[in-house]
Formats: sequence, structure tokens, C-alpha cells
Amino acid sequence: MYSRTQNENGSYNTRCLYCFMTIASSIETEKELDRAEARHLCPEKVLSQLLAQRIAAEAHAAHRN
Ligand SMILES: [Zn+2]
Repeated sequence: MYSRTQNENGSYNTRCLYCFMTIASSIETEKELDRAEARHLCPEKVLSQLLAQRIAAEAHAAHRN
């Protein structure tokens, strides 16, 4: 889900593979990376979840009619 890269000075960057947003850069430790990734609210994921909910709701409505 996340792409981590290391800088020349040893710090890390992490990027979300869903929305391709750089979540954090120049992070010192992997623990901090975990925290930054956990904090990321991915707009792409939210969007796909909303879409799935809508499709489910429409399927439900169609079933009723
Ligand atoms: Zn994302």
C-alpha cells in the first residue's frame, strides 16, 4: 500500500500507492513512518468506499422495486 524510499542522508519518505501522495518526507525512523502511514486518510480509498456503498444501496433499492 505504501512505497518507502530512503534519502541519501538516511531519512525516509513514504508515498501512498492509492493516491500517489507523499505522506511524509525526511522521516528519521521506521516507527515514525508507521505512524505517518497510519495517520493518512486516503482520498482514493474513501472515494472507492463511497462508490461501493452507493452501488450497494442502489442494488438494494432495485431489489425492493
Ligand atoms: Zn492515499
